Amino acid sequence: MSGRWAPAAAFFGLHVDCGHYSTHRDKWLRLPVARFTCRWGCELEAVGVADVIDFTSTTVPEHARHCPGPNTRRTP
Ligand SMILES: [Zn+2]
Repeated sequence: MSGRWAPAAAFFGLHVDCGHYSTHRDKWLRLPVARFTCRWGCELEAVGVADVIDFTSTTVPEHARHCPGPNTRRTP
């Protein structure tokens, strides 16, 4: 799979692509990728096993506390 899964691109939230690990070749053929888009439009991304684990367990929950919220510059 290449590119972003269509529903993940259309809605905010967390999308995790677990990648593809070949046990036969003993290597990642496609690295895991996690993307998060909050309701206010912030976009965060992590690539690779360790970064995706940290991202889903720490970064996404922390974002809720530190999100700048709606972009007030767009408001007339
Ligand atoms: Zn945000």
